[in-house]
Amino acid sequence: MTDVLKLKVAAGFEELYGYQPLGIWSAPGRVNLIGEHTDYNEGFVFPFAISRRTFAAVALRTDGIARVASSFSSDVVEIPVAEISRQTVSGWSAYPLGVAWALKELGKANQTGFDLFIESDVPVGAGLSSSAAIECSVAVALNELWNAGLELRDLARVGQLAENQIVGAPTGIMDQSASLLGQLDHGVFLDCRDLSSQVIDLGFAREGLELLIIDTRVEHRHADGGYASRRAACEAGAAALGVRSLRDASAADLARAQELLDDVTFRRVRHVITENQRVLDTVAALQAQGPRAIGELLYQSHQSMRDDFEISIDELDTAVETALRHGAVGARMTGGGFGGAAIALCPIEKISEISRSVEAEFLALGYAKPDIFVVSAAPGAHRE
Ligand code: ADP
Ligand code: MG
Repeated sequence: MTDVLKLKVAAGFEELYGYQPLGIWSAPGRVNLIGEHTDYNEGFVFPFAISRRTFAAVALRTDGIARVASSFSSDVVEIPVAEISRQTVSGWSAYPLGVAWALKELGKANQTGFDLFIESDVPVGAGLSSSAAIECSVAVALNELWNAGLELRDLARVGQLAENQIVGAPTGIMDQSASLLGQLDHGVFLDCRDLSSQVIDLGFAREGLELLIIDTRVEHRHADGGYASRRAACEAGAAALGVRSLRDASAADLARAQELLDDVTFRRVRHVITENQRVLDTVAALQAQGPRAIGELLYQSHQSMRDDFEISIDELDTAVETALRHGAVGARMTGGGFGGAAIALCPIEKISEISRSVEAEFLALGYAKPDIFVVSAAPGAHRE
């Protein structure tokens, strides 16, 4: 697949612009293994880069103009790099142009422009961060072509700046960190307070395990209001406990929290406190015992999101329970909730039975047909 996309992106560039690109760079999407709604509480997350990638074929121009195009859309967007702003760009081109803008803001863009063409097999809007994949593929390309000399962790900030300032989405830094720092069969354990990260051996391939993504194709219903109210509950909980953020609370504070808080706020707080601990426990279990030992933690995470944080939906619960019943080591919903995808860590020999069973169960319950596919933990952004 990867080789096909590499050929396609080069051919697409040449057909559109009439000459060959200087190089091809790529960056993966990501999935969050565990650590949900912990990021804005300055806690821990543990995503990994996946075997679905976005490829950028790029060449420099000497006139300061950027031209961007994608197999995903028929328009070719052309603008002087110096004129990129929130007002002048919109739609999908805001992602690649936003990256060029962010490098310029950081004083890292020389005045040359570029021609760029994008190809990708990261599904859009499935919770696998096609947005980080496009940002990071462009970030590593321009970092090299413009001699910006930034390190991968700085490029994560470049992607985030682009998304916050030019796209206008108030997102954190997890997605870009995973896309840039991922390694083959490793996860990226990220501390959302100081943004330090550690690459951790997952051992899935070695242990004969694969990760199944079960995309319910339910769009994130009521996600906006639900997200805002969860954030507000976390802030109220932290204030009542007298801590800067829930990162600073632990299981020892739960009894006090239960006395101080109303039932709903207490359960929101309990999710975050226990989820942070589960991320730490997952890292420890992987290091001490290997990936088969994390199954129970994945399911506990799901139960906590279902019962305490109340962000699951019937389709996600069905995906998780069915996968577990048919031999998954562990399973949970992943992402912000109210729709999107579940993940199931599965022995390779059980993959087809689990996939078939989930699909049959969805059909029996009258749900939309889910999109089910395997991902492995892949290397981060690089030049091809
Ligand atoms: P996701 O969960 O996939 O990151 P987002 O809404 O954050 O969803 O980002 C998806 C957007 O990113 C798309 O609507 C599009 O604007 C842009 N995008 C992603 N992949 C591509 C691509 N291959 N070509 C052009 N734009 C893309
Ligand atoms: Mg995104």
